[in-house]
Amino acid sequence: MRKILHADCDCFYAAVEMRDDPKLADIPLAVGASVDKRGVVATCNYPARAFGIRSAMPMARAMRLCPHLHRISPDFDKYRRVSADIQSIFRVLTPIIEPLSLDEAFLDVTDVNHFRGSATWMARWLKDEVRRQVGITLSVGVAPNKFLAKIASDWNKPDGLCVITPNQVDSFIETLPVDRLHGVGPATAGKLKARGIETCRDLATLSLSALMDDFGKFGVRLHELARGIDERPVKIERERKSISVENTFDHDLPDMAECREHIVALVERLEDRIARYQHPALNKLFVKVRFDDFSITTLETAGQTPALDQFLPLFDEAWQRAARPVRLLGVGVRLVSEDARRQLGLFEPANPDDN
Ligand SMILES: [Mg+2]
Repeated sequence: MRKILHADCDCFYAAVEMRDDPKLADIPLAVGASVDKRGVVATCNYPARAFGIRSAMPMARAMRLCPHLHRISPDFDKYRRVSADIQSIFRVLTPIIEPLSLDEAFLDVTDVNHFRGSATWMARWLKDEVRRQVGITLSVGVAPNKFLAKIASDWNKPDGLCVITPNQVDSFIETLPVDRLHGVGPATAGKLKARGIETCRDLATLSLSALMDDFGKFGVRLHELARGIDERPVKIERERKSISVENTFDHDLPDMAECREHIVALVERLEDRIARYQHPALNKLFVKVRFDDFSITTLETAGQTPALDQFLPLFDEAWQRAARPVRLLGVGVRLVSEDARRQLGLFEPANPDDN
């Protein structure tokens, strides 16, 4: 049985702004572009929600609902820094983290031994540490799978903690409205409602074949979700550190001249591959050479232009280290780390957060 946490900051952008300027804490606050820029509400705080203001609402409408609404333009660089701070707290607990946005992530804590393996205590610790170190509140859901953990984190927001233990799954799911299920939008919900299906208890009465007739492959998923089943793993997003191509040759390349010819083709492939990553920030260029005695050497140099005239001298120098026939050649680039990119302001604005 797995233990999954879903951690979700409460009105994240607004929370960061209130942290940095406590005068904003008790007044209606919305983060988003201005009315004359036809902005929408990215996030608003709870006093603003009391006026009926919601995420994704046009700012003009929000201002009509609450004329004294305080508006702030979003500062995505700041939110990214705060997000990185929060994620570093997550990482103290487990490396198995799947961020969904700047303020939301799944954590798989199945194999974590801290707190005697109690996921509830881990969730409490996360909430406490984020409040203490970062100064904002987090709602956490604890459940045996991702979809239930996500519903749980939303259950008693803000500053919520909701635990669904394995033996509570059935009773929790029974009364759950079908539109709370992962992947069920208004269209599917409407179709189900037309057949008198409103809760998961209703949904569970439909056979697999009936669901497949109506919803195709998604019918299989609905059949599982209605029973609280969701096997999706928490997917770790690893930061890409380099882009490279290499080739192992059927016959060893006898000398430097022949290797140089193959470098030409490799650099072309590398340029293609780099293009697919849409302007990654390059930091260094490197070559990799494996000789016929299986010794391996890599050599790198600072540089942002992955061109042939950069790689050839690098290869020449690497080859001379052993000056033997060659089994494998590779060329690549190392990327600027996300932390460094953040400091250089190289990130694009992310999608607005919803709550
Ligand atoms: Mg949130």
